[in-house]
Amino acid sequence: MELLSNSFLNALQCPVCKKGGLSLRENKLVCSSCSESFPVLHGKLCFTKDADAMMQKYDAEAKQFVNRLKSLVKKSPRLFMFLTYAIGSVSYFGERPWRTIEKAFGKDVKNKIIVNVGSGITKVHPDVINLDIFPFKNVDVVADASSLPFKDGSVDMLISESTIEHTPNAESAMREMRRVVKPGGLAYISIPFIMPFHASPNDYSRLTHEGLKQKFYDFTPKKVGSLGGPASALVTFLMYFLALPFSVISESAYNLATYFFMAILSPLRIFDLLFNLFPRAIEVSAFIYFIGEKKK
Ligand SMILES: [Zn+2]
Repeated sequence: MELLSNSFLNALQCPVCKKGGLSLRENKLVCSSCSESFPVLHGKLCFTKDADAMMQKYDAEAKQFVNRLKSLVKKSPRLFMFLTYAIGSVSYFGERPWRTIEKAFGKDVKNKIIVNVGSGITKVHPDVINLDIFPFKNVDVVADASSLPFKDGSVDMLISESTIEHTPNAESAMREMRRVVKPGGLAYISIPFIMPFHASPNDYSRLTHEGLKQKFYDFTPKKVGSLGGPASALVTFLMYFLALPFSVISESAYNLATYFFMAILSPLRIFDLLFNLFPRAIEVSAFIYFIGEKKK
């Protein structure tokens, strides 16, 4: 879906009064009900008051050495993807969102509204609209997950990968995700289960596969599985476990040690190919994913 197409603009709703539709006037989206306006900055629809301030906060965090490395990598999405898969701690052997999109809608999804909430820099499919609270590269809509700028039942598919745990108010974020999907539409949700604390910028919660099903009770589960299996959970635990003594030295030493042990241990993730075949693998998995269809 094109960002500034009429079909997409028609799906938008003012996140302030939650009543009015939004129309494009010059470089602003203006609410038809409360007259609030939201700027279009560098091709991004900005619904947070402090999009610029957020970027500055992110830059400040990036001043730490490892974060500087991270932000450098985040400026080149392909390198970031490669590093995630090559020496990450998680195997991602489950169904990925691009596959769910293809299965549900086929190759041509230009007329579908598919929104990735908390996308970061990752573009899972060229026609997906990326939404994030940070104005990263590849982000189309800058907004808060707990106040999505979409009308009820306006989105064909909602994707949320490892985002819920980073939202301070997970309940309202999930309520919003459920609200905006149209009846018969899809949700692809992934969340860490057995994973250490990881701030980016913060980390608040975990859910089990049963927890995820219960939170999305008005969706019929189509597929629930593990994204990073038991070996990923073990690798992630071990890398932080082994790095822990380095936290005595300094924050940077600890961070570097976690990356060092991750690189060494990451080949063990291959065991997820085997371990994910066991019926109860989901109960000890690093990440859980849920694909559900909204009940009509
Ligand atoms: Zn309004």
